[in-house]
Amino acid sequence: MTGKGFVVRAVVTRKTGQSFEVSEVRIAEPIGQEVLVEVRASGLCHSDISVARTGMGGDWPMVLGHEIAGVVVAVGPSASRIKVGDHVVAAALRPCGQCSACLKGAVWSCSQPNALDRDSEDAPRLEDKHGPVGQMQGLGGFAEKALVHENQLVSIDPAMPFAQASIIGCAVATGGGVVLNVAKVQPGESVAVFGCGGVGLNAIQVAAMAGATRIIGVDIQPDKLELAKKFGATDVIDSTTGDTAEVIHQLTGSQGVQHAFVMVGVPQVTQTALQSLGQSGTVYLVGGMSPGSEVALRPSPGDSLLLPFQQGIRGTWLGSSNFYHDIPMYVDLYLQGRLNLDDLVSRTISIDDIDEAYEELERGSIARSVITFPAKS
Ligand SMILES: [Zn+2]
Ligand SMILES: [Zn+2]
Repeated sequence: MTGKGFVVRAVVTRKTGQSFEVSEVRIAEPIGQEVLVEVRASGLCHSDISVARTGMGGDWPMVLGHEIAGVVVAVGPSASRIKVGDHVVAAALRPCGQCSACLKGAVWSCSQPNALDRDSEDAPRLEDKHGPVGQMQGLGGFAEKALVHENQLVSIDPAMPFAQASIIGCAVATGGGVVLNVAKVQPGESVAVFGCGGVGLNAIQVAAMAGATRIIGVDIQPDKLELAKKFGATDVIDSTTGDTAEVIHQLTGSQGVQHAFVMVGVPQVTQTALQSLGQSGTVYLVGGMSPGSEVALRPSPGDSLLLPFQQGIRGTWLGSSNFYHDIPMYVDLYLQGRLNLDDLVSRTISIDDIDEAYEELERGSIARSVITFPAKS
């Protein structure tokens, strides 16, 4: 590791199945539209575990972590939106800003996210003693600093605490976005949320904000069901105790729900969500499923109500969030006391405790841990 740049502590994952360990990487100085962020908080999301455990979406070695909040300490010569000193939140999307999807604001559907990468003749953004190191989603948040293209960042009100801010870019944008932008939940509608972790709890509180009258939280952990109530669930179901779809139909006066959000990537849960739908209801797939997963569909009237009741099932990606608009909105709602992020940050940890915290998250016992870093300057 020679040359210009900054040596920082970071969690470098070298191979599939490896535990999370802290080492050192050298981060290059920003060029072009790059921005160097002093990371002050970095959320632990399930997606990092699935990449670490399965290798899917990963190109080793890589620094995982994609829920970043921090302070800008340097910018490249072409950066224009983001300035030194800005407090920023990163989004787990890489919008090029040029393609037709980006130009119409559908940044979650960008057709050329790799346009934000460095050119091949440039030095790598990150390297360690073994060679170049990649960044998950162009971010690499499990590090003291992150070098990020400015298209992935949004400046926020400095009154916003970093730990709460960090989870907006993924957990909040996904859970809130799928309710507001994808399902467009209307006042008086009924929803069911399968999986009451970080993303699910946000879907619940935003559905409450949108005026849904019946909000049913489903999980297998009693602690999470208690949290679901706190976030606005009108009813909760422990899915280990009986026929969840039947209970949902009972709770909704045999109507079923209009919207069923599946936050956990388990085919059986998706089946239950389909069985919970009412007339014209839709299942939204939010949580990542493991490769090769299949969900059986029996659309004929004798087997299910899918066809005559005009029900649907659709995939979603980061809640169809135009984060340039949505992140400041969630910050405002938090600062006004209308969005609960404090109870989502179960605890803050040091980067050295990341492996243990991920084991805890995998056991499903907590909503969210966030790594925090003390201010350097
Ligand atoms: Zn995430
Ligand atoms: Zn684009």
